[in-house]
Amino acid sequence: MAQSFDLVVIGGGPGGYEAAIRAAQLGMKVACIEKRLHKGKPALGGTCLNVGCIPSKALLDSTHRFHDAVHGLSAHGITVGEVAIDVKAMQARKDTVVGNLTGGIAQLFKGNGVTWLQGSGKLLAGRKVEFTPLEGAVETIDAQHVILATGSVPVNIPVAALVEDLIVDSTGALEFQSVPKRLGVIGAGVIGLELGSVWSRLGAEVVVLEAVDAFLPACDKAVAKEAMKILGKQGLDIRLGARVTGTEAKGKSVTVKFADKDGEHSEVFDKLIVAVGRRPFTDGVFSTDSGITLDERRFVHVDNQCRTSVPGVYAIGDLVRGPMLAHKAMEEGMMVAELIGGHHAQVNYDTIIGVIYTHPEIAWVGKTEEQAKSEGIDIKTGQFAFAVNGRALASNDAQGFVKFVADAATDRLLGMHVIGPGAGDIVHQGMISLEFGASVEDLQLMTFAHPTLSEVVHEAALSVDGRAIHAVQRKKK
Ligand code: FAD
Ligand code: NAD
Repeated sequence: MAQSFDLVVIGGGPGGYEAAIRAAQLGMKVACIEKRLHKGKPALGGTCLNVGCIPSKALLDSTHRFHDAVHGLSAHGITVGEVAIDVKAMQARKDTVVGNLTGGIAQLFKGNGVTWLQGSGKLLAGRKVEFTPLEGAVETIDAQHVILATGSVPVNIPVAALVEDLIVDSTGALEFQSVPKRLGVIGAGVIGLELGSVWSRLGAEVVVLEAVDAFLPACDKAVAKEAMKILGKQGLDIRLGARVTGTEAKGKSVTVKFADKDGEHSEVFDKLIVAVGRRPFTDGVFSTDSGITLDERRFVHVDNQCRTSVPGVYAIGDLVRGPMLAHKAMEEGMMVAELIGGHHAQVNYDTIIGVIYTHPEIAWVGKTEEQAKSEGIDIKTGQFAFAVNGRALASNDAQGFVKFVADAATDRLLGMHVIGPGAGDIVHQGMISLEFGASVEDLQLMTFAHPTLSEVVHEAALSVDGRAIHAVQRKKK
């Protein structure tokens, strides 16, 4: 007899595994199908844990420590001997972190009674799921409900076809076993900046080729401008409006041809990372008669609660519209599990945080100044720098600022934008404020501990009305 489950989740990334665990907590009989082999072993955790968020942050942390030891410690009066990097040991630490976390998800599945089916899943008509195990015979499973959570994969471009260990995507860039002397990066997006920073901090000369003229167009303009300045000073050679026209891999180097407003150019690199975006992974995930439809950008079409066009079938995470972020996938997974369990649930897409884990970090939530203006909202803004914050100065880490965007008529907070130390954590204060519909005055009236980086949040809120204390501001009211 065919196996039968209340819920079958296809894909065990952050969206899929959180949905599976929450549904099991709600008393459902749950299976999660995951086909991934990481370094030869079946692995849960998806892109995020295996080849995304976690390994990249492990490398960012290691390389930040190295860079600080070489360039930052002397300011504290600390003298160290020759500082060296053992790339293989750094990679081994990263692999251990990944292994611990992915193993942890397998333990959570066991503890919650979620069945992990190792292999590929395909949605068929009538809410049946075809399961092709990593080993063994294909079977058809009956499912009351199905969640498609198959995530995304890197976009490939014909002008820079991948060549093993030479022209690589983000997954390959996490595995370099030595520091390239000259590293090319195509795409000045999140991956380009994070992984470009990793190898630049270890001494690689990094050139980033970005096709469009604008830098970080999703960010508030003031933040993007500051980021360009700071990252440039760190040594990232970011060239905007540079369209790659061809690549040639020869021996141990790759020649990249590109065109910009000044004409045709070429550069030779030891390695080239292609980081030009990701596409939803729909290959073989559902049969043509399953009833699933795609939207105009080839994401699985869903409503605002992740229902597909087939009753009882949901889709979440990178596979559907919205930012391709792990926390967005997780919240959608939780929401769908609650809905299937008969509860009310909703994701607030207006308060999804973005973070770029460069140093300093760049983080935002809500509307940018430009977005609010383009929507015809009469706004007021306030900005305050870390340069005069006691804690930031004490740590010798005082670049960047906090900026608020607020509705001029109602005082309601619309957006928070941070570039600076700990931005990815600090920005949560803005997210919580937006969720509670806070006004700028609410933040002005709160007591922030001294000396903390969060005092910059307080001062930025005060500065919206010209009332910041640690900067000379003409009082507005
Ligand atoms: P995924 O994590 O992609 O998981 C989908 C899973 O489904 C995969 O494991 C895949 O093997 C499996 N699968 C696919 N098809 C089938 C099938 N037919 N049968 C069975 N299994 C299948 N996001 C952040 O929020 N913060 C970060 O710091 C961050 N850093 C990143 C760094 C890098 C280098 C990359 C590449 C991405 C990063 N992301 C980050 C994005 C984040 O990884 C994704 O948004 C997130 O993983 C999406 O989760 P998901 O569950 O939708 O899909
Ligand atoms: P991205 O969309 O952030 O950036 C891609 C960049 O490549 C864009 O600036 C685009 O203009 C440029 N580009 C596109 N085609 C090009 C071409 N032919 N030549 C030169 N430039 C070109 O995509 P990404 O950096 O690949 O990241 C993919 C996804 O992964 C993102 O959606 C992001 O949300 C997610 N991610 C998130 C984090 C994080 O949250 N910190 C980290 C890494 C990845």
